[in-house]
Amino acid sequence: MNIIEGTLQLESIETVARDTKKFRFSVLQQALNFTAGQFVSLQFNETSWRAYSIASSPEESELELVVRIISGGVGSTALDKAQIGDRFNFKGPFGHFVLSDTPQARLIFCGTGTGIAPLRSMILTEKKRNMLLFYGGRNREDIAYLDEVETWSENLEIKLGLSREDNPENLGAYAKNVRITKYLESLEITPQDEFYICGNGDMAKGVEALLKDRGVEKSKIFMERFN
Ligand SMILES: Cc1cc2nc3c(=O)[nH]c(=O)nc-3n(C[C@H](O)[C@H](O)[C@H](O)COP(=O)(O)OP(=O)(O)OC[C@H]3O[C@@H](n4cnc5c(N)ncnc54)[C@H](O)[C@@H]3O)c2cc1C
Repeated sequence: MNIIEGTLQLESIETVARDTKKFRFSVLQQALNFTAGQFVSLQFNETSWRAYSIASSPEESELELVVRIISGGVGSTALDKAQIGDRFNFKGPFGHFVLSDTPQARLIFCGTGTGIAPLRSMILTEKKRNMLLFYGGRNREDIAYLDEVETWSENLEIKLGLSREDNPENLGAYAKNVRITKYLESLEITPQDEFYICGNGDMAKGVEALLKDRGVEKSKIFMERFN
């Protein structure tokens, strides 16, 4: 993929979870060709660039980012204040967190918070292989794509883990009051399984350690850590 430098123009903003906003941009002047799972880097001032995984699929005309607004953060503050029509310099695409082309693989995705971004792009792109998504947060307010996750693919099984949901009625049909690692402890793992993990460092490290303990080969574990 060619890395380009260009301009993104903000077309829509939506609050999708606690402290989390979804931004859709048009890419001005030139096409951004990327592989699902990659990220772009946005410029906020002369020296500050921040990485954001692309949540839209490469087939969509607009670029979607889902961003956790961290109080006082350089990128967070700029995006939180941004208005429709604002423009940002960007570079990209970057990254090697992309799907394998192993035909018989079952693709198992593990994501928390905004870590769902590259997983969404991958799931929307995959047309054939069976997929399983473990998507976690403290409670429903942490889950950015709750209203649409079921529409992403017919080949996708979804397990929601809400580790601190006090109201059992909020759990719904496929959610459990557990951490993602709890699901993985009892998952029947086969040599065909590939694991794609994205989110904060602690979650990613915890999932990786558990998979290694369960005998999953390193070559079957793919990770993107946001911090
Ligand atoms: C490959 C990659 C992809 C990424 N994709 C996304 C994405 O899709 N969505 C998204 O929201 N973020 C994503 N990030 C994280 C993002 O790049 C920024 O690091 C993050 O948004 C904080 O930037 P900031 O400028 O707002 O805060 P900064 O000005 O960098 O930091 C402000 C304060 O917040 C703390 N901080 C920084 N990051 C975090 C964090 N994750 N949690 C808690 N505190 C933090 C810092 O230690 C500092 O004290 C990604 C990071 C990488 C490396």
